[in-house]
Amino acid sequence: MRMKEDYMKNGQLKPGYNVQISTNNQYIVNYSHHPNPTDYNTFPSHMEQFSKLYNHLPPAVVADAGYGSEENYALMEKFGVDAYLKYNYFDKEQHKDKSKIIIDLYYNAEQDCYYCQMGQKMRYIGTREKKSDNGFVQKYKNYQAIRCEGCPLRGGCNQQMENRKLSVNLSLKDYKSKATELLKSEKGLYYRSKRGVDVEPVFGNIKYNKGFRRFLLKGIDRTEIETGLLALAHNLAKRAK
Ligand code: SF4
Repeated sequence: MRMKEDYMKNGQLKPGYNVQISTNNQYIVNYSHHPNPTDYNTFPSHMEQFSKLYNHLPPAVVADAGYGSEENYALMEKFGVDAYLKYNYFDKEQHKDKSKIIIDLYYNAEQDCYYCQMGQKMRYIGTREKKSDNGFVQKYKNYQAIRCEGCPLRGGCNQQMENRKLSVNLSLKDYKSKATELLKSEKGLYYRSKRGVDVEPVFGNIKYNKGFRRFLLKGIDRTEIETGLLALAHNLAKRAK
C-alpha cells in the first residue's frame, strides 16, 4: 500500500495493512486488518466482525468522512443502526461561502427529469451501474439537456461539444441528506465532539506512547494476533488506572 510516511516522496508501495479499530470510551472493542487503503471498503467486514463477536450491532456508529459511502449507509439502514458517518465534503458543505453555492438543479420526480438554470428540460437517457470492490452495485442515472447551442450561460455551464450531461446517484443523495440531518442533530453534535477524544487517543497511545509503529510478524493472521495483544494491553492498562 501507499503509506502516509513517504520519505522518498515518490508514492512508493510498501507491505502493510489498514488497521481498523472501534472504541467505546477509549476501550478497544473491535479490530480488523485489511489489505486495502480505502477506509470505507473496510467498514462492512469490520461491522460484520463486531456483530459476530457480540451477537448484535451497536445502536449507533460514529466515524469520520472516510466511511460515508452509499454501501455503508445502506448496510446500517438494513440493520437499524443510526449511522453518524460523514461523507466526503460534509465539512466543506458546512463551511462553504454561501455566495459560492452552486444552485441545485430542479428535479421533477414525476417526470424523472431535471431542469437546468435556463429552465431547459434535461431528460433521462439511461442508467449506469458501478460495482464497488466489495461487490456493492451503485446506480447512476444520466440526464441530458436537449439543446445547449446558443445558450448565454454555456461558457460557465457546459464546455463540452455535446449538450450538457448530468450523472446522479439518487439513492446516495438521499442517504447524504439523512446523514446530514443526523450529524447536525443534538445527538449528532455530541457524538461528533466525542469521536475525536474517543478513538484518536487510542491510536496516539499505541503509536506514540508505546512506540508501536511496525508489526514484528508477517501475514494477516499473525499481525492480527499482535494487534489483539496490543488491544488487550491497552484495555487492561486503562482498566487498572
Ligand atoms: S448550457 Fe445547456 S444546460 Fe447549461 S444552462 Fe444552457 S441550456 Fe441549460
